[in-house]
Amino acid sequence: MKQTFSVSGKSKTAPNDTSDESSSTRVKVLKDELAEIIHQAVRDNRSYLMEHESKEILEGIGIKTTGYLVARSEDEALAISEKIGFPVVLKIVSPDVVHKTDAGGVKLNLASAENVRSAYREILDTFKYQHVEGVAVQRMARSGIEAIIGVTRDPSFGPLIMFGLGGVFVEVLRDVSFRILPITENDAVGMIEEIRGYALLKGYRGHAVDLSALQQLLIKISQLVMENPQIAELDLNPLFLYPDGYITVDARMFVSEPTVNENKTQAGSDSLRDFFYPKSIAVIGASDAPGKLGYNVFRNLLNHHFPGKLYPINPGKDSVLGVKVYKSILDVEEPIVLAIIIVPAKAVGQAIEDCCAKGVRFAVVEAAGFAESGEEGKQAQTRIGKIIHQTGCRVLGPNCSGVINTHHNMVQSIGLLDDLKKGNVGMIAQAGVYAAGILTGLSNVLDFGIVATIGNKMDINETDILEYLSDDDNIKVIVMYMEDIRSGKRFFEVASRAAVRKPVIVLKSGRTEAGKKAVSSHTASLAGNDEINSAAFKQSGIIRARDNEHLFALSRAFSKQPVPKGNGVLVITYTGSIGVAATDMLYLSDMRLATLEPYFQKRLKNALPDYANVGNPIDCSFSMTPEQVKNLIEIGVESNDVHSFIVIIQGEILGSFVDVMKNIDYKGKPVVCCVACKEFMIDDVVKMEQAGFPIYSTAEMAAEVLGRMYHYGVRRQSAIADSIVRHLTKDKLSVDDLPVRLRLINPKDIGLWTDFVNGCSEKSLWLRFLSPFSATPERAQRFCNVNPEEEIALVAEMSTPDHLNKLLGIARIIKNTRCEGEAEYAIIISDPWQNKSLGITLSEQCIELAKKEGYKTIRAETLQENYAMIRIFRRCDFEFDGKDESMVSMSLKLS
Ligand code: ADP
Ligand code: MG
Repeated sequence: MKQTFSVSGKSKTAPNDTSDESSSTRVKVLKDELAEIIHQAVRDNRSYLMEHESKEILEGIGIKTTGYLVARSEDEALAISEKIGFPVVLKIVSPDVVHKTDAGGVKLNLASAENVRSAYREILDTFKYQHVEGVAVQRMARSGIEAIIGVTRDPSFGPLIMFGLGGVFVEVLRDVSFRILPITENDAVGMIEEIRGYALLKGYRGHAVDLSALQQLLIKISQLVMENPQIAELDLNPLFLYPDGYITVDARMFVSEPTVNENKTQAGSDSLRDFFYPKSIAVIGASDAPGKLGYNVFRNLLNHHFPGKLYPINPGKDSVLGVKVYKSILDVEEPIVLAIIIVPAKAVGQAIEDCCAKGVRFAVVEAAGFAESGEEGKQAQTRIGKIIHQTGCRVLGPNCSGVINTHHNMVQSIGLLDDLKKGNVGMIAQAGVYAAGILTGLSNVLDFGIVATIGNKMDINETDILEYLSDDDNIKVIVMYMEDIRSGKRFFEVASRAAVRKPVIVLKSGRTEAGKKAVSSHTASLAGNDEINSAAFKQSGIIRARDNEHLFALSRAFSKQPVPKGNGVLVITYTGSIGVAATDMLYLSDMRLATLEPYFQKRLKNALPDYANVGNPIDCSFSMTPEQVKNLIEIGVESNDVHSFIVIIQGEILGSFVDVMKNIDYKGKPVVCCVACKEFMIDDVVKMEQAGFPIYSTAEMAAEVLGRMYHYGVRRQSAIADSIVRHLTKDKLSVDDLPVRLRLINPKDIGLWTDFVNGCSEKSLWLRFLSPFSATPERAQRFCNVNPEEEIALVAEMSTPDHLNKLLGIARIIKNTRCEGEAEYAIIISDPWQNKSLGITLSEQCIELAKKEGYKTIRAETLQENYAMIRIFRRCDFEFDGKDESMVSMSLKLS
């Protein structure tokens, strides 16, 4: 299982949290003296640092290397060899030699003084016509698993880090992973687990390599490069990975003056609220001639009952579709928020100037004939850019199909559109067809809130809109169709924040731009455009779709169904074969079939005819009826292990399911359906979709979609947990001189939690749970899988080299869903650690976190005889609230 929680504390940087701390307040990893090597090289106009210089810098930040000593004479080479011990390696040190082995400049495994002397002479002889600074003498590293770490810079996304295994893995298989810098601990774990060669690193039985040392190495490289923008690129090639650490064998850094504005975006980030909900719209080029685009746009606005004022602008008309026309936008007396420009390209410049003169805040240029159509168009676009730059008017397009906002009855599309229902999907499309043809079909089965087509995105771009949509409460799911991504770094940051709020699903058509890049380092040659986009998507939590079909398969599920809270699925089918297909895909998607408790098994049996197969999948056979499925779902809803449903329905009788399925209480558990060959029963499919049930033609798609939803939920929770944990002010303490760490509980703690409960006395458990309590697997699951939006569970953990990790105490803040701003507090400390101030420290930290999470009041209840607990509460300033015969209630106001 992938690591889902990062439990890094304050002492470690939290790189993705760009807002929290400025880099100047952090302690630098690289000392100034060593940074000076880099600065000097840049001043000397050198393009790269040689191996020994690079390794000195790496050693300076605690990265292990084979050494960086350089001999200037044969005797010196021998003296160094004797000092570091045989066998040694000699390497040419010359600014003219980049690939040392190819040139004959690497002599390995020199075991004696003799060998060193003759190798030294050979090197000098080979390079007698080149400038030689000396000969590097270093330890001969024992062999290990060969790996590569590199950094390169992308003009759009900024610095990227790469990891891969050496040799054929990188060269032939291109088995590498990328992340955008800086990286978090989770990112480092992800990079390592993602490569196909991960199996080799894990080994079979125990770890073949020290994964945590490797993670730390990746993070150090990330810090080094973030802190020293003069390091343009870097290759550690190779390093050897061992079961106990690693060693860097060769290193090279490319240096240059940092490029300014690398990640700057052209557009500002003013709120686009009025852009999506304007009070008035002028349509420059509105027409009453059917077939003209200016007619379509204006008719759409009228037909969908745009609630604000509409001003058609056309010098040749008196009225359009019954609305009074103005010759120029400047003739309109009232203020205008937004103008749609749909006139020939050559008239757009004047129209924009008029808009600016009128004080229009937003212009949507639907006219085409700009950068997309050659040099002349490009220049025209640049001229518009200059005009708006001076006035601050924001422009969408040109060459776009406008914006639709069903929550504001605003349809600006150039394609005529009839009824659109208000929906929760927000779409950003770099193609007009998503606001026209595709939308017409899709609107049968999916309801959109906002659709924004962005065209040439000369000003307002995908990131601006993504940022806005993540803020708009009418939008629950964000869908993007992208051809290229501008200002990658800002996109990445905005997407990372957006994906924590709502799912962001992206279809990105891959266009290779690798050829455009000047490639110097090995890493750069491996960083194709699509690798970088993939890295950015993964790292920010974006869900990437393969194609249009997949994009809307995912969108329909996210739009209509809740995210499953666990990975147990109940499959209900009428045919074994499709049930098997669902099962296979569930397991391939890291999902599983739910296991029903015996009691539910019995109920299921009673709900089915004798010949039916009561397992999971439940095979109802061809006699399956809607009522039967309803019964089965209602039983499944009650079971703790069922978190979602796949229902495989016969197309012939699909229509009979619509009303029955609509009237089931699913208690927040999602359901998706599969109807084989659904395209031939499309009327009933549309009815089911409109009733809120996504229908897929294959069970594989249904299973995969559920998997994506579940993993989205897991990632989202882990991102929220990460942000909570960054608020811990104290994560390391010592109790009885032993190191104790505070961190959030995570799903991997099931074993530790079980040991903890088993180690507590009956009395301690009674005092905490007010009834006899023992650790069952089901409880372990529940207590370790907390939703950080509803509960913060902080554990105190001891980990010493000779003790395995062990939990000493657990404190929980549980949101009171019935009372806004209120939480319940509970704590348990294992018996030997009671009365040692651990309870107080844990409680203080929990209270801090609750405050930062916005809680106003914390309440606690305990038995009157629980003196230890009452003392902790008093020490944390809880006030006495009341009591009955056995219980005391206390509360704490957090201002
Ligand atoms: P280059 O990449 O410039 O040709 P390297 O320093 O990477 O030169 O050396 C080439 C190869 O020699 C490495 O890939 C590694 O297999 C081996 N090698 C180099 N230095 C050492 C060392 N100190 N210990 C063990 N093997 C080494
Ligand atoms: Mg090398």
